[in-house]
Amino acid sequence: MKVGEALRALEAREARLLLARATGFSEASVLAHPERELPAEAETAFLEFAERRARGEPIAYLLGEKEFYGLPLAVNPAVLIPRPETELLVERALARNPSSILDLGTGSGAVALALKRHLASARVVAVERSAAALAVARRNALKLGLEVDLRHGLWFAPVAGERFDLVVSNPPYVAVGDPHLAQGDLRFEPQSALVAGADGLQALREIAASAAEHLNPGGWLLLEHGVGQDDEVRKLLREQGLEGIESWPDLAGIARVTGGGLKS
Ligand code: GLN
Repeated sequence: MKVGEALRALEAREARLLLARATGFSEASVLAHPERELPAEAETAFLEFAERRARGEPIAYLLGEKEFYGLPLAVNPAVLIPRPETELLVERALARNPSSILDLGTGSGAVALALKRHLASARVVAVERSAAALAVARRNALKLGLEVDLRHGLWFAPVAGERFDLVVSNPPYVAVGDPHLAQGDLRFEPQSALVAGADGLQALREIAASAAEHLNPGGWLLLEHGVGQDDEVRKLLREQGLEGIESWPDLAGIARVTGGGLKS
């Protein structure tokens, strides 16, 4: 690929971000000083970024960072890139003002860390099955100085016998073979963080099935899910005897988070 082609494949904002990362200057500084000579190593680094971006690698993986709920989070290909729509899950969780929180499938730690940042006195436990993802969450917790109890395992396995005021999860919810998996950032993200069975509901089912035994009286389960899954998720929560079941739309107007509570 030619340099010019690589550059043309980038949007201006992305080019600035990658140039800032390659030079060590801030984005503002890159923008303010177009006359500055690009050191040879920075040029090499930038052109490598540009080529990788042109091949489709997510900008967040190239930068090694993604902002979520105002937190700068380290990310790498072991974790799902935190999405803006997941901020809705954090908002609904904060609205319940829980004293104890369990985040299932924490990935980069995004949801757990955002909650701990805003509920300093809450006990926050976060579970992750992928050891490589858990290492990213650990790095983020350390960097941000947020005390989250990170545990390795699948769903509720590492919290046997424990109960919480709130269980939250943004689990995988894309169906096997969904064409979106072959497009954009999703091509580079861990399949295990995205795909959940033939209908995309497998993880949501597993979590819903065991949630009640890990909730305090009056405690809540809040789940992120995909487009058109809200009916099914409300049904899953009803089947577990949860009450006050409700779904909330994301900024695109898509029902994205569904929750329900255990009787007090
Ligand atoms: N919201 C993501 C997407 O469709 C999927 C994330 C997930 O499965 N939890 O791009």
